[in-house]
Amino acid sequence: MKTEFSLTQLADPDIAEADKILRACVHCGFCTATCPTYVLLGDELDSPRGRIYLIKEMLEKDRPPTPEVVKHIDRCLSCLACMTTCPSGVNYMHLVDQARVRIEKQYARPLAERALRAVLALVLPRPGLFRIGMVLARLVRPFAALLPATRTTSATPSLWRRIRAMLALAPASLPPKGAQGGSVFPAQGNKTGRVALLQGCAQQVLAPRINQAAINLLTRHGVEVVLVKDEQCCGALTHHLGHDGDALARARANISAWLAEAGRGGLDAILVTTSGCGTVIKDYGFLLREDPDFAGPAATVSGLAKDITEYVSGIELRPVGAQHSDLVIAYHSACSLQHGQKITQAPKELLSKTGFVVKDVPESHLCCGSAGTYNILQPDIADRLRDRKVANIAMVKPDMIAAGNIGCMMQIAGGTSVPVVHTIELLDWATGGPRPGSVG
Ligand code: SF4
Ligand code: SF4
Repeated sequence: MKTEFSLTQLADPDIAEADKILRACVHCGFCTATCPTYVLLGDELDSPRGRIYLIKEMLEKDRPPTPEVVKHIDRCLSCLACMTTCPSGVNYMHLVDQARVRIEKQYARPLAERALRAVLALVLPRPGLFRIGMVLARLVRPFAALLPATRTTSATPSLWRRIRAMLALAPASLPPKGAQGGSVFPAQGNKTGRVALLQGCAQQVLAPRINQAAINLLTRHGVEVVLVKDEQCCGALTHHLGHDGDALARARANISAWLAEAGRGGLDAILVTTSGCGTVIKDYGFLLREDPDFAGPAATVSGLAKDITEYVSGIELRPVGAQHSDLVIAYHSACSLQHGQKITQAPKELLSKTGFVVKDVPESHLCCGSAGTYNILQPDIADRLRDRKVANIAMVKPDMIAAGNIGCMMQIAGGTSVPVVHTIELLDWATGGPRPGSVG
């Protein structure tokens, strides 16, 4: 794609990066076929190619974002299916990230929407506040029916519709708190490795059993696990809201905490059980490339970051018994894992090797609609994607559904009675851990 940035504009490293990305696009439109919003809405401006044109226009003309640009960028799930499909290697992720930051800086959203986004950015990355929020949501939920009704087909969902979606996501009860930062779990038997395990923010409130399963499995196989003190939210939630200052501050704090831990006891890897977080941590090196103090350390941390299934693939697992060998598992491939990190086979191979019958889900490239805060901010599209995902999953008649991302697990669990579990819970069970239950 031809671009017309001035030399002055190109002196800005972000614009230079955008220019490189835009020039790689050859307008072929292959990406439209796998874009969930284009598949549902059929509007070119809700396709990757359409959004690329909108972003190009906004950046080249150095114009503030228009309501139209904001509408179509807001509808993008950042699922990155377009990056998997694109034959030219267009890095849509870095382009849309830049657009989101510009929108947050230069576009005046309606007051109610600004308030909602500010609340999400404040509460979600803080487990203490998130826990209080979940308790309040549970108390208020019975009154959700009293909120003003809105048409479900409206282009931009109303505040009430979004609040209803937020309340619907709150689980009926919360589990007790899991292990806290600063804990060290020694390896059993011969120690073969030492890793940090990201504690996550929403996940540690909603399902601490996921990280407990990872700790059980790793220590059982000779790996020491550390929950690093002073670790924060990875920044993914605020990054996707376009709040770059907050996201980068969190990235810097985590880099300092993890590298200090690596200096104390050594770290072979930083493991992540929430693939949405893993995708962003693996991108720290890019996000901080212009920071003279953090560029190098950020690249080191990105190199250490691994999805739990990537790391466990390098371990000789020791399955016990065959109590689960007839269980059919529908494997839901989270977008952040399959498109963001290009991890497609490892989770399925691990499940098969440990005795499960693993089934691929039809249309597995399509997002389930969770996408961070998307199911709150764009609930109508998210619901349609969830219903489509659940219908596809039902076609393989599973006993359980496995996924590697808490957001997907909550989203899918909202549309089915089939238990939804994390891949690591099944692997832990197969190697001597407890049988996993369902989310929520
Ligand atoms: S990230 Fe997903 S929703 Fe956004 S343009 Fe790409 S395929 Fe479409
Ligand atoms: S597939 Fe790639 S090159 Fe083709 S239009 Fe989409 S982003 Fe551009």
